[in-house]
Amino acid sequence: MKVAVDSELCQGHARCWDIAPEVFSLDEEGHGFASDSEVPPALQEKAREAAQNCPERAITLS
Ligand code: SF4
Repeated sequence: MKVAVDSELCQGHARCWDIAPEVFSLDEEGHGFASDSEVPPALQEKAREAAQNCPERAITLS
């Protein structure tokens, strides 16, 4: 599974990082980005949960 954060949509709520800190990091302004674009199987459920909880729908999983 691959994960990406659309920086145009992200408003920096940090919810993704709160839910899945193994998958997401925050930049100095609190905007989320994928620490690694490839999500290992053990973290895919958390990545899904984070995507569902992103208020801006900025997280794409493929
Ligand atoms: S939850 Fe969504 S809007 Fe908030 S920091 Fe993460 S990607 Fe950005």
